[in-house]
Amino acid sequence: MSDAPALILPEKSRSIGNDLRRQLGADKVKDDFPTITAYSVDASIYKVVPKAVVQAETEDDIAATVAYARSTGVPITPRAGGTNLTGSAVGEGIILECGRMNRILELNVEERWARVQPGLNLTEFNKKLEPHGLMFGPDPSSRDMCKLGGMLSNNSAGPHTLRYGSVKDNVHAIRMHLSTGAWLTAEALADGDPATDAVLGSHPALAETMALVRKNADLIRSKKPTVSKNSTGYNLFGLVDGLDQGIVDLPKLFVGSEGTLGVISEATLTLVEKPNATATALIHFRHLEEVGQAVFDLLPLTPMALEVMDANTLDLINRSAHGVPADAAATLLAEFDGGLGLSIAEILDRVKGICRKYRLCQAPTIAVEKEHQEQLWKARNALYPTLYRYDAKKKPINYVDDVVVPADRIAELVQYLSAFFKGQDVNVAIFGHIGNGNAHIVPLLDVNDKHDFEAMVAGYHEIHQTVITRFGGSICGEHGDGRVRAEFVRKYFGEELYALFTQVKSAFDPVRVLNPGVKISDTPFTEHIDYVRLSKPCATCGKCNSVCPVFDVFQTEDMSSRGWFEIVTAPGYEYLNSKRVVEACVNCKSCRTVCPAGVDVSDLIMQKRAEHPNKLAGALFALQGQPWLFEPFLKLMGRTQGLWDRPLPRKVLEQALVPFLHQLASTARLPADMVLPRLASRLLRERYAELTEEQGHRGAVAYFHGCAANYFQDGVGDAVIAVLRKNGIDPVLPRQRCSGTPIETYGHVGRVKDYARFNVESLSRYDTIVTGCASCTLSLKDYPKWFQGEERSKAEAVAGKVRHISEMLAGEGLKAAPTKPCRKTVTYHSSCHLRAAGVSKQPRDLLKRIPGVTFVEMRDADRCAGGAGTFIVKDYETSQKIFARKRAAIRDSGAQVVATSCPACMIQLKNGLRGEVDVRHIAELLSEAYGTDLPA
Ligand SMILES: Cc1cc2nc3c(=O)[nH]c(=O)nc-3n(C[C@H](O)[C@H](O)[C@H](O)COP(=O)(O)OP(=O)(O)OC[C@H]3O[C@@H](n4cnc5c(N)ncnc54)[C@H](O)[C@@H]3O)c2cc1C
Ligand code: SF4
Ligand code: SF4
Repeated sequence: MSDAPALILPEKSRSIGNDLRRQLGADKVKDDFPTITAYSVDASIYKVVPKAVVQAETEDDIAATVAYARSTGVPITPRAGGTNLTGSAVGEGIILECGRMNRILELNVEERWARVQPGLNLTEFNKKLEPHGLMFGPDPSSRDMCKLGGMLSNNSAGPHTLRYGSVKDNVHAIRMHLSTGAWLTAEALADGDPATDAVLGSHPALAETMALVRKNADLIRSKKPTVSKNSTGYNLFGLVDGLDQGIVDLPKLFVGSEGTLGVISEATLTLVEKPNATATALIHFRHLEEVGQAVFDLLPLTPMALEVMDANTLDLINRSAHGVPADAAATLLAEFDGGLGLSIAEILDRVKGICRKYRLCQAPTIAVEKEHQEQLWKARNALYPTLYRYDAKKKPINYVDDVVVPADRIAELVQYLSAFFKGQDVNVAIFGHIGNGNAHIVPLLDVNDKHDFEAMVAGYHEIHQTVITRFGGSICGEHGDGRVRAEFVRKYFGEELYALFTQVKSAFDPVRVLNPGVKISDTPFTEHIDYVRLSKPCATCGKCNSVCPVFDVFQTEDMSSRGWFEIVTAPGYEYLNSKRVVEACVNCKSCRTVCPAGVDVSDLIMQKRAEHPNKLAGALFALQGQPWLFEPFLKLMGRTQGLWDRPLPRKVLEQALVPFLHQLASTARLPADMVLPRLASRLLRERYAELTEEQGHRGAVAYFHGCAANYFQDGVGDAVIAVLRKNGIDPVLPRQRCSGTPIETYGHVGRVKDYARFNVESLSRYDTIVTGCASCTLSLKDYPKWFQGEERSKAEAVAGKVRHISEMLAGEGLKAAPTKPCRKTVTYHSSCHLRAAGVSKQPRDLLKRIPGVTFVEMRDADRCAGGAGTFIVKDYETSQKIFARKRAAIRDSGAQVVATSCPACMIQLKNGLRGEVDVRHIAELLSEAYGTDLPA
């Protein structure tokens, strides 16, 4: 028999998707290449490709999916943010993702609780609680990416667990769908109460579990981990503790059960008061062994958090870049909110007093301002993905990442681990929640290398065993068992208790469809390791998803930055099987701005688009490249705009353009009611002909106006020139071509390079190149990426001289003080490309210097507004959905004016706000404050 593949391969797996689609509808079920690829990973070392993904929107969707899984035996893996480090949100059957169930259903401020859905992200949740002075206590470092369903199922914790406990300590009730098809509200009930008996009576699995727990209470007590935190195994210990106090404490069983006992659709969570003020101290120790004692001295001051990083970790993240002294053997991060009846200042005095006892590298750094504190925490929060930058091959691998020992033995643990890994010749980062004795151990390995692979397997067994026997610790404090620790749960608790765990699992999941392979499994931890991915630069941490505007709208992994990295780097990737996602990125660059591992997903997407450049866009750019043809046409449109830019002609225009724009994207349109920018009847270069290079104007400062300021009569170009003149600069308008951003967005990189070459040549002779457009700024600063050798050096020299007008005038740059008051409340929309260029503080500082301005920071100022150059036309619907969040933030800020630094953002803001709030470029506000009369 020939072993050649059949010409048409049977696609049995699609039948699962088809079945589910029939029941739930096409937009909730996906099984195409991009979707199953994006959902095949979480933040762990594993990859498991699912057959289909259900994006549940209602409890009925959950129930139908579970019923299907039960009747067919197809496994089901619930999923929230997909940021777990253990492989518990990947599975080979159906991924049931609840990201769209992301609402607060009820909030009781007086009693401090909220009823929430599982898809709500923690940071978003806390933002909504902030106006009420409340927050949710447990806060994993992944708070920007993880969701409440995942936190509940992992019993997550974080830096503030020291104060607030882990999730299990902050839950009133959970609503679960069981594999029997029943719904259960799990809450703490009085033991022996008829109501409690009724609940147990209607859920046989629950009754069986409670009977097992009562019968084996002594065994369970004897095996209870004695350390401060534990998330391994089922929390039968919590049930026994409850019974000892006359309570059937049901949430304890389900929190931390990792989707193996049921699917959560709701939870009622306890909230805590947000501290009014906090202070953070960064303490660098010269001797590791002193850290343990210092922690004991600090604990009576009731810190909110105590985090440690060892010397090796500090080296791996490049200590000098974070201002950590060369001789620091460990760094301790401590946070306080007052307490003991003392003010923060008094507490800090005591902290300083304690520190004097130790041989520190320098006096502790104290931060009380929010911004400064965030800076100190930034490195700690992004530690794990940051380690991805260290080496192209050796990556941080989570397989012994979450041990807990008594807090006073943490220094001893670090010494043991340092010696162990030295013996293995393996680099390792050790950091964690020292106040709880919880250490995160992340060795850097090339798992494709035999030595490293063997070191991993040996370390897995030896370290876990040592933590249990020598330190009396737990193998898991907060990350969960998942696939990585499942193999060791039996060894940790012993056969008798493990047998109880399996009985509980069988009672709730007799057909074994709920997240098999996770928590209760004998499968070796090396099964399903993603050897291909672990040599790639992305840590799959999901941080980029938290800022990706497309993910914000769709809430699904196939429409997200992290998902796109996975898709475009997957072996089966082809433009045609993934076009819908490759064309969905708005190229805002927010992902690149936040990625701790230094990955630029947007650039990868641009590279993929370059393999299939858009023909219509190419023709339009070619036309624009012929100014003698393009500019008269544009000016004619400008002169006649009053005629054609009216409701009826615009309706005709919208219809007429449909087939044409379809060539750009199937979603493209120019809606009749979209507010268009005013086209210039005289271009900027004509209005300021005396400043152009062509007319012989010379000087050291060039104004690179870009296309928008030249073609649109939006006031930006005039304002930039006026403001520069007020500050003693008569700028030259150098010869220039489009900076390249829109052209790159449509894949025409050849043209981008040609234009970049032209612009570099033209701009080389100037000392400073001023811009008024965020995208031009970034594009020019990024020019070196297009060139090699001598050309690259020239591009680097130009890039180094580029300054956005707000950057140029910040600080000492503002020579002339604006005097005309602007008595308005002004907020700032921070354009993505300017943030990516590293400019975000300067525009705000400038606005605050305009007399009379009351500056208010709006929520989500740093999020994309969705215009993204021509994206507003390419996908108007999505663009407007992205804008909805910005509109709400602007409204809530109470501002009369929203300022920005980018003409392209202004188009979106003006269209979206329709005059409700005035939209101004920062240069316009400045020029008005100088009392300049600009051309109408
Ligand atoms: C950079 C980084 C830092 C981290 N820091 C911390 C930290 O400080 N503390 C900490 O505890 N963890 C930390 N983690 C791990 C992880 O982020 C947390 O455990 C997080 O709470 C997981 O939430 P998630 O929404 O991503 O869940 P997912 O990864 O999607 O899922 C986690 C588990 O929950 C289950 N689940 C999800 N939704 C449901 C549902 N509706 N019903 C039933 N089961 C469900 C899944 O099946 C899976 O078993 C970190 C991870 C990263 C990448
Ligand atoms: S691209 Fe960066 S931020 Fe995004 S998942 Fe990968 S490592 Fe994390
Ligand atoms: S560039 Fe913007 S839209 Fe594209 S992946 Fe990055 S964050 Fe998402």
